[in-house]
Amino acid sequence: MQMIDSYGRTIDYLRVSVTDRCNFRCVYCMPEEGAPIAPKSEILTFEEIERLMRIGAELGVRKVRLTGGEPLVRRDIVDLVGRVGAISSIEDLSMTTNGFLLARCASDLAKAGLNRINISLDTLRPERFQAIARRGNLEDVHAGIDASLQAGMTPIKLNCVAMRGVNDDEVVEFAKLSLESPFDVRFIELMPINWSTGDDSMNEFFALSAPNGYKKSGNVTLYANEDVATFKNTFKMMDPAEQRGMLNSSQMRRMFISAGEIQSKIESVLGPMEPAEIITNGPARSFRLKGAVGTVGFISQITNDICARCNRMRITAEGFLRPCLMADGEVDLRTPLRSCATDDDIKELFLTTVRHKPKEHRLEDGIAPVGRNMSQLGG
Ligand code: SAM
Repeated sequence: MQMIDSYGRTIDYLRVSVTDRCNFRCVYCMPEEGAPIAPKSEILTFEEIERLMRIGAELGVRKVRLTGGEPLVRRDIVDLVGRVGAISSIEDLSMTTNGFLLARCASDLAKAGLNRINISLDTLRPERFQAIARRGNLEDVHAGIDASLQAGMTPIKLNCVAMRGVNDDEVVEFAKLSLESPFDVRFIELMPINWSTGDDSMNEFFALSAPNGYKKSGNVTLYANEDVATFKNTFKMMDPAEQRGMLNSSQMRRMFISAGEIQSKIESVLGPMEPAEIITNGPARSFRLKGAVGTVGFISQITNDICARCNRMRITAEGFLRPCLMADGEVDLRTPLRSCATDDDIKELFLTTVRHKPKEHRLEDGIAPVGRNMSQLGG
């Protein structure tokens, strides 16, 4: 059996948030004081996740990614990996993590059946790491990366959210990491959405990203293709009340840098890259530097239409099935799971949700999701 949506896309990938808790407070993702979290009783148990994955597999799911919040803060996560890894028709089981707690469990995760790991890493400089993640430390993340290499979970994807005036001066250094080690270094375009407030001034954002365009928003002038915001200034610009919060959409728009611009920056220093075919790379466009072991990829969900190739749905930590990251609309699976629904009943809910998967996100029309933040959705 297969899940095919109204636009002919086969949905064979589930991204499962196993917790809404996170041990980092990345400035573009979560307020310093943390986002609202659900009571533990409302978070899916491992048994419930396992059952949903088995039902998904019967509906044609072949790929599962565990995410969060931070999946490694969920106690006994290795047990969950073992349970999902044991579902024979799931061919690819991976995890997205900030890597901070990875060193101690990478080997157990691999043994339990984790095939691949994506590690989020926005900077290679310790002081910047503190400013961006506001928790943890770079040393432990490096140790996690090393442990994953040793555990054989290669190639390892290193995901970097590129931000103008913050870490855009590191993109060449990041790309170089792919030269000698089996890293797929991937640059993710910043999604300038303050999910927790539902601040949805996306129309302005798209005007900003138009070549040479600029637009005024309140008393802030937004420029395209101009490096107006240094990291320090960005923080200075923040309202004192927000310094403990997270970046707002206007600040993120100022920091936006397109995948195309990053690619040009890398190629201008390291030479042209060859296209590379990476089967497990989903919507990323991948390239290889001359003679490199690994690759360099770009996930350009803002400047490119990647919706046409979307093959995934998400399950939130509280058990809501969500057909599109960027559009509100979810189906509650937890209530039926906890009220004696049969597998067939739940399959029907999956199929109904697939039928309602939107054709594409509507960010360019100013329609941004509200109500949940990224840490609840898993990115
Ligand atoms: N804690 C895990 C981690 O750090 O990878 C998994 C959850 S995190 C929400 C998943 C990914 O979403 C991370 O790579 C993070 O950088 C990315 N992310 C969060 N907010 C984002 C935003 N506004 N724009 C682009 N990527 C974002």
